Amino acid sequence: MAGYLKMAALAVVAVVVVGCRDQATAIGKIPQFTAAAATNAFKETEEFVALGSRAAGSEGARLAAQYLCDRIEALVGEGARIESFEDDTPYGVRTFHNVIVELAAAHASAPRIVLLSHFDTKRDIPGETAENPFVGANDSGSSTGLLLSLAELFSSSGEGLACHVMFAFLDGEECAIGYSDRDGLHGSRHLAAKLRREGVAIKAVILADMIGDSDLHLEIPRNSTPELRLLALKCAERLELRDKVSLGRGFVLDDHQPFLDVGYAAIDLIDFKFGSAPGLNDYWHTMEDTMDKLSVESFEVTGRLITAMMAELVETGRD
Ligand SMILES: [Zn+2]
Repeated sequence: MAGYLKMAALAVVAVVVVGCRDQATAIGKIPQFTAAAATNAFKETEEFVALGSRAAGSEGARLAAQYLCDRIEALVGEGARIESFEDDTPYGVRTFHNVIVELAAAHASAPRIVLLSHFDTKRDIPGETAENPFVGANDSGSSTGLLLSLAELFSSSGEGLACHVMFAFLDGEECAIGYSDRDGLHGSRHLAAKLRREGVAIKAVILADMIGDSDLHLEIPRNSTPELRLLALKCAERLELRDKVSLGRGFVLDDHQPFLDVGYAAIDLIDFKFGSAPGLNDYWHTMEDTMDKLSVESFEVTGRLITAMMAELVETGRD
């Protein structure tokens, strides 16, 4: 794989912490997600969403990928890259753009964790016009802003990271007509296959999707690795966020699935109920998916859960 953004490895710090407490392990650490990081995540989302439609294959998606690449470099320094590729779609061959940045651990043999968010928006939303585009504040702005904030947080960790972290901002998650081998999940299929082909060892793949809803409840789909589902619950319990996280009974076809398909451990942190009343989903893929439906507190919940899970994962062995 390509070079890391930071060849840290300078400070080797011994920290002895047990359990799921947001920072841990023998070498380096996983910084704890803070309220300030959540505020940053909200602001990043707001600025990203202001770009407008990011429908895969469009000029908007290409510009969004370039924006992300530039923004990552501004937040963490050089090292972000756009991996463009062509894939078949119901409308013919289209070009997609994944944006990747990797932060190196303090120790080369540390495990690797992959954090995922898609950044494209659903196309052809009813009511959408050129002047008033569908912006997808929650789907996919929120998880994109969260990952930007996490990248900034991790890169400013003076002690070095306890694991290698790959951030992948994925294109083409949304299907144009209906999910199939050539419609939807383009970016994740491409990246999962590439990492597998290159023999990259990955401790866990953590996908965030629709995590900004002010009425947040993450329901982890059944098609997530069982150990990671239990870990999420355990961390939620310790963080006193248990009322915000539960195990869903259903399957969700999302960007973690191609990673599961090639044998990686993966989990989807998603709140799939996004609407005007409990149980409703009337903000999802509608013109109602706007910034006013999101809250800083929800970013904080998901951010804390992710950093707690990562801290626990780096304690439980090295891959
Ligand atoms: Zn969507």
